[in-house]
Formats: sequence, structure tokens, C-alpha cells
Amino acid sequence: SKTPMRVAVTGAAGQIGYALLFRIANGDLLGKDQPVHLSLLDLPQAQNAVRGVVMELEDCAFPLLAGFTVTDDPKVAFKDADVAILVGARPRGPGMERADLLSANAEIFTVQGRALNDVAKRSVKVLVVGNPANTNAYIAMKSAPDLPAEAFSAMLRLDHNRALSMLASKANVPVADIEKLAVWGNHSPTMYPDYRETTVGGKKIASLINDEAWNRETFIPQVGKRGAAIIEARGLSSAASAANAAIDHVRDWVLGSNGKWVSMGIPSDGSYGIPEGVMFGVPVICEGGHYKRVEGLSFDDFSKERIKLTLDELEGERAAIAHLLK
Ligand code: NDP
Repeated sequence: SKTPMRVAVTGAAGQIGYALLFRIANGDLLGKDQPVHLSLLDLPQAQNAVRGVVMELEDCAFPLLAGFTVTDDPKVAFKDADVAILVGARPRGPGMERADLLSANAEIFTVQGRALNDVAKRSVKVLVVGNPANTNAYIAMKSAPDLPAEAFSAMLRLDHNRALSMLASKANVPVADIEKLAVWGNHSPTMYPDYRETTVGGKKIASLINDEAWNRETFIPQVGKRGAAIIEARGLSSAASAANAAIDHVRDWVLGSNGKWVSMGIPSDGSYGIPEGVMFGVPVICEGGHYKRVEGLSFDDFSKERIKLTLDELEGERAAIAHLLK
């Protein structure tokens, strides 16, 4: 049988961690024939809670679960990691300014980026879920000069999946039949879900929907505010859907997206007018363990405005943490 792959998860004692770990151990991430070793990182005060989660994982007797590491040390957690899913991040506390939040997280992701640089497999794939996800991923990438920039990504897939579901319901078509959706930019309410190229059975979904006011006044804002709507309804932030999106993102990256477009936050290569290095959501196709940006798309004036809005926000975040990088 196959050698176990090592998957590190940070924030393992948190809500998303609780929804994520059981699915990884069940083979949803890397395939039903791929054993996994789970390395669980959390803060010192959360170690007991992580041990509780490990007891539950043991009690599932997952055939694919080859072993565990539980630690508060990133260098232990990321040792020989094939995949690292960085969920743990500092939430905004009462009275905390945006700049404080950015710098608290900059510190966490600098340390974790360096640890990945030093001990992870050279082929590691890193997904950042913890917010502000794009900027945290950027910081980790900049802190890991010996790893390829392509090793680092940020999660836009929940926005992508939310948009897919809304489009399916609006056009009254199955989700599985929808192709070529793109979500651009920052994982924040400024992201731009873009269905101008989207098709269903070869037909443009925009012509089925035929309602540009719905796009601008309902679809885009509702995708952006979906997280807040869930907090209001559930009293807790989304966790199972965020974990599901993390699984989708890494599974497609490792195993391929079967020719489908998916959205990933990746370091820009300068295309589409996005400055090189900015961790920006773009449509990609995954194959053979690599992503390839969808190229040659064009933007109308409205799309240009939307891209500028989300890029300006990301550039603002990048400027706010620039002094903290080395
Ligand atoms: P969650 O598991 O609910 O969320 C973790 C992170 O994911 C947050 O930054 C959250 O952002 C983010 N996130 C991204 N997308 C989504 C989404 N769509 N819905 C919800 N969250 C999203 O947080 P918990 O507080 O339950 O758990 C966090 C864990 O991380 C704790 O166990 C804590 O100890 C740990 N931690 C570990 C650190 C480390 O290992 N160095 C550092 C800091 C924390 P948002 O805040 O915007 O909701």
C-alpha cells in the first residue's frame, strides 16, 4: 500500500479544524487509497482540546489514518509536510484596529512561513484559510524564500462554491453542470464573483439569467455577505462549509480539477494587471499536482472597477505589513 502523506493542520482545536480533520482522515482530501499522517498544531492553551479531538479521531477507526503528531511547535508540525492547511489565526478582539489584527497575524504567519521553509517537503502545498487569508498567505510565502512561491495559496473556494450554488438556484440548473466560474481578488467582501464566461451545457449562464441588475445588486453583494448571514442565523461563523472548501481546494490541487475552472488565491505572475507577487484570487485549472491560471480573459468596465476595488484593498493590507517582513 501507499506511503502515508503528511498533512499538517493549524488551529486544529478550532471550529473549522473540527469539521476538517475527520474528512481528511476519511480520505476526502487525498483519495480513498491514500493513508495520511495528521500533524495537529495549536497554541499551548489549546493542547488539551486537540488531544480530545485526537481521541475522537481514534474512535472513528479510520482505515486511512496512519498516525498523529500533536504539538504547539510549527517546526514539529510542518516536518516533512506534503500538505499544510493553515487555519489558526488571530481573530479580531474588542477594540482591535485593523492594523493590530494585520500585525498580530503577520507575526504568526512569519513564524509559520519560516518553519515551512526549514522543515516541510520541498514539494509542500500550503493553503491559508485563517483571515486575512490572502495577506497571511503572502506573508508566509515571503518568509519561505527556499520554497517555490507556487507552494503558497489562499482560500477563495468558499466564495467560489457559494457563487456556484447561487447561480445554480437562480438559473435552475444542477451545480455539477456549471463550468467556468471565476472569483477574483481578496477573500473578503470585495472579492468579485464573475460569471461572464460561465456556461451550462455549453450555453452562457448569463443569457439564461439575463438580469444584470441581479448580478450587481443581489448576486455579488450576497456572495460577499454570506459569512455574516451565517453568523446571524447560526450564532457561529461558518465552519463545515469552510472546511469543505479547504478540502475542495487542496484535493483539486493535488489530484486535478478534471478540466474545470476553480478559483484559488495564488501569487500573481503580473497578468491581468495584478502586480507580481500579490496573492490574488484567479480562475485556474489543476492538473498533475500543479495549477495553471486561466489566461486571455478580458474585462469590461464594470469588471475593471471590481478588480481595482479588491486589488486596492489587498495592496493596502500589503503596505500595512510591509515593515514587518524582515
Ligand atoms: P475557526 O476555526 O472558526 O476559524 C479559523 C480561521 O479561519 C479564522 O481566521 C477565520 O476567520 C478563518 N476563516 C476563513 N474563512 C472562513 C469562513 N468562511 N468561515 C469561518 N471562518 C473562516 O476559529 P476558532 O476560533 O474556532 O479556532 C481557531 C483555532 O486556531 C483555535 O484553536 C486557536 O487556538 C487556534 N490558533 C492557533 C494559532 C497557532 O497555531 N499559531 C494562532 C491563532 C489561533 P475570521 O476570524 O474572519 O472568522
